[in-house]
Amino acid sequence: MGRYIGPVCRLCRREGTKLFLKGTRCYGEKCAIDRRGYPPGQHGQGRMKRTSEYSLQLREKQKLKRIYGLLERQFRGYFKRAERMKGITGENLLVLLERRLDNVTYRLGFASSRREARQLVGHGHLLVNGKKVNIPSYLVAVGQTVSVPEGSQTVLPIQKALEGVDGRGVPAWLEMDKTRYTGRVKELPTKEEIALPVNEQLVVELYSR
Ligand code: SF4
Repeated sequence: MGRYIGPVCRLCRREGTKLFLKGTRCYGEKCAIDRRGYPPGQHGQGRMKRTSEYSLQLREKQKLKRIYGLLERQFRGYFKRAERMKGITGENLLVLLERRLDNVTYRLGFASSRREARQLVGHGHLLVNGKKVNIPSYLVAVGQTVSVPEGSQTVLPIQKALEGVDGRGVPAWLEMDKTRYTGRVKELPTKEEIALPVNEQLVVELYSR
C-alpha cells in the first residue's frame, strides 16, 4: 500500500492545524505551524480560504486521512465499514481508525508518532496477545494486549518515545505498564477521548453526496 512520503509539516500547514505527524518536534518550538502558520507554497500567505460546503467537508476528510497516514482507497474502505456498523457512522469511523495497531502503538507511547509506529510494527517490534503482528492496519480488539518483546525493548525510537509519553499521557481507554513494556485495550474509545481537531460529521456528509 503506497503512502505519502513528502514533507509532513507541509500537510499541517495546508490544513492550518497541528496534526502531530512528527513526534517530539510537534510539541516543541520548531513546529512549523507555530513558526509559519500559513499554507505552504509560493502563494500560501496570499491565498484566500475557500468556505464552500464542499471545501469544508473535503478539508475535514483530508485532515483525518493525514492524521492516520492513509491514502484515499484505504480510507474509503474504513468509511464503508463504519457505515455498515450499528451506531453513528462518523464515530464508528473514528473508533475503527483508533483501533489500528500503528495508532494503538503510538497512543500507548511505544512510538512518538503514528508514522514511526507504522515502521516499528512493519519491522516486527510489536506483539499482539504475545504474537508478532507486522501489519499496521491490524485492528486491535478490547482486551487484547500490545507489547514489545524483550529483544526489541532496547530499540532507540521505542526508548525515546517511552521517555516522552508522560508529557503526552496515555488515553483512558488504554492501560499501560511501562516496566513490562505492555499495554492493553480496556475499552473502545469515545469520540471525546479520541479528541482530534476534526469534524467527522463533515466527512460523512462528503461521502454521502
Ligand atoms: Fe505538524 Fe508536527 Fe510539523 Fe508541527 S512539527 S507542523 S504538528 S508535523
